Amino acid sequence: MDDCLSPSAQLSELTALESARLEWTEAEDMSETPHSLVFDDVYFSRQDGRAETEHVFLQGNRLPERFAAWQDTRPFVIGETGFGTGLNMLCAWACFDIHAPRGARLHLISTERYPLTREDLKRALTAWPEFTKRARALVNQWPEPVSGVHRLILSERVALDLHFGDSSERLMQLDGRVDAWFLDGFAPSKNPDNWQPALFQAMASHSQPGATFATFTCAGIVKRGLKAAGFEWEKVPGFGRKREMLCGHIATPPMDISRKQVPWFAPPPTRTARHIAVIGAGLAGTSTAEALARRGVGVTLLDRDAPGAGASGNRQGALYVKLAAETNPQSRFYLAGLLYTRRLLERLDPKRQLWNDCGVLQLALSEKEARRQTTFLNNHALPKSVVEGVTAEEASQRAGVALAQGGLDYPGAGWVRPAALCKRLAERPGIVFRRAEVTRLEHREDGWRLELADGDTLSVDQVVVANAWQAPNFAPLDWLPLKPIRGQVSELHLSSDSTHPPLPLKQVVCAGGYALPMLEGVQSFGATFAPGDTGRKLREADSATNLAEFERMLPAYSETLRASGVEFDPAQLTGRASLRAASPDKSPYAGPVPDAPTWRWDYAALQKNARRAPAVAGQHHPGLWISAAHGSRGLASAPLCAEVLASHICNEPMPLERELVDHLHPGRRLIAEIMRSHKASP
Ligand code: SAM
Repeated sequence: MDDCLSPSAQLSELTALESARLEWTEAEDMSETPHSLVFDDVYFSRQDGRAETEHVFLQGNRLPERFAAWQDTRPFVIGETGFGTGLNMLCAWACFDIHAPRGARLHLISTERYPLTREDLKRALTAWPEFTKRARALVNQWPEPVSGVHRLILSERVALDLHFGDSSERLMQLDGRVDAWFLDGFAPSKNPDNWQPALFQAMASHSQPGATFATFTCAGIVKRGLKAAGFEWEKVPGFGRKREMLCGHIATPPMDISRKQVPWFAPPPTRTARHIAVIGAGLAGTSTAEALARRGVGVTLLDRDAPGAGASGNRQGALYVKLAAETNPQSRFYLAGLLYTRRLLERLDPKRQLWNDCGVLQLALSEKEARRQTTFLNNHALPKSVVEGVTAEEASQRAGVALAQGGLDYPGAGWVRPAALCKRLAERPGIVFRRAEVTRLEHREDGWRLELADGDTLSVDQVVVANAWQAPNFAPLDWLPLKPIRGQVSELHLSSDSTHPPLPLKQVVCAGGYALPMLEGVQSFGATFAPGDTGRKLREADSATNLAEFERMLPAYSETLRASGVEFDPAQLTGRASLRAASPDKSPYAGPVPDAPTWRWDYAALQKNARRAPAVAGQHHPGLWISAAHGSRGLASAPLCAEVLASHICNEPMPLERELVDHLHPGRRLIAEIMRSHKASP
């Protein structure tokens, strides 16, 4: 990993958060209300929580009238400190549904240091029967208590980003701007650490011009902090027994200096996005098309083959990640990606016809891997529901077959039918699929013109390139390092005269290769890894390699299969070979496409002094984007990258910390190349 690419980066920990500890008391209407044992304070008024929220946060920010007047194509953004039970956000969502015009969208951002458990959240929200449907959308997608950003799609027009961690730390890493703030987070007397200058400064620097705020408290520390950060405030009547509260606004937020040290990552200006072409209908392309269409953008999805016919075309694939022993941006991205894909699948296919969260077991087949896993576990206090170290005995029990080694178990990971998933994503209304090969991209004043192999052309506002290793064939991307990697998967079949193995594999097991639980009588496993090889024919030698790895990884299970009558003959194996694409640092590319010659010119000074960044924003091809280099982990990375691109294009807050958005930027390779040329020069 190049450490020079984000010098401003402060690596946040990848860790579990402590859950809220609650006591339940009776409210005036006899419903239960939660009381925090950590802060000895109430989450909302015992008198009438909803009326309090409506008075303090909704009226305090004039939301009904602002929602009614909202005509922008970008969503209205609310930022909150302290998500708690989510009551404020559910009230804001209900208010938006009543007042906002059709087509308007709402984006909610909320921080939380002590997330409620799913059970407590459900229990707290039963007090509001009028919110049952909305509460269900929230509870169903409620994330694991892992630090970082978790994007939830609550409805067709409402999204929620939960930034788990301390409010001021999380808001400093926010990549986006807010229209209205809900300043919550327990009374300053009970929680003084929360109301520090850093919080108000982070709010100010992530505000839209004219952004408002409202809070229930009039404490001096809050008034002083807000004023020092640039907010003007006034006292207005409070709710119920509280005489006063504060509301106000910031006329001119401070300039965004978050990318001062990495100016090349400054996002390009927002452009018209009525009609976008997405090139490539694998996981990267279909998930981007779905994310854009969900936002009301018209999408033409183009591929020379049907959706999911390329490297995303296997009938069964592993949804897994391999996290580094030491926390790094790549691991943080991949874990966020895995958790996001899980939520996407749950929402898209609640009946689980396309996927199975049977768990993924990463076996420690060698001493070296066992040591790596121990270091990983020592460095990461993640919840057991995300990843857990298991002994050989526990691993055997979970996988359903005898194993000689233990490893890491990811209970929420599993397998997906990638080809079927691509097809499902591409079927979303708003997407037009066109079977065509794009041969050339040409920038015009008002957008892009695509030349097609059949001689036709297509004019669009913007373009997303998502055709894997072939992306550099388009002139604006000819500099991008992207390597094809041939991968062959193999299949063993239960023949008519073989019996079903008495002990089937219950989890995905991986080590050098991987094996998936049997699906419809077919045992899939693989895959070979041949960088630079573009052959797509099935090879017997590769089948033999896969078979050998399968037997090495799962000797007892292989015996069971043999005993059931399955033939272990490489010549008889079926399978599929396809080409995946990888970047040199193994992270995907998701972002705007840099104008490479201009970058080389603008940032040439980095050759002499890698620490002195010229104060020039990165120049990009206007309206040209890429999602590629998903390697063999596209199921975990492509859907979250799709959200990153759609959020960029539609001028929304990002679903990841700024540092991780920068980590995905394709321009990181240009900067690495410029800096390398310094090291190489005598
Ligand atoms: N807005 C909430 C609702 O609608 O239910 C009520 C919020 S409750 C009064 C305050 C919340 O702030 C709690 O959930 C608490 O865990 C959270 N909190 C307190 N200090 C925090 C901090 N420094 N960073 C992030 N969250 C914090």
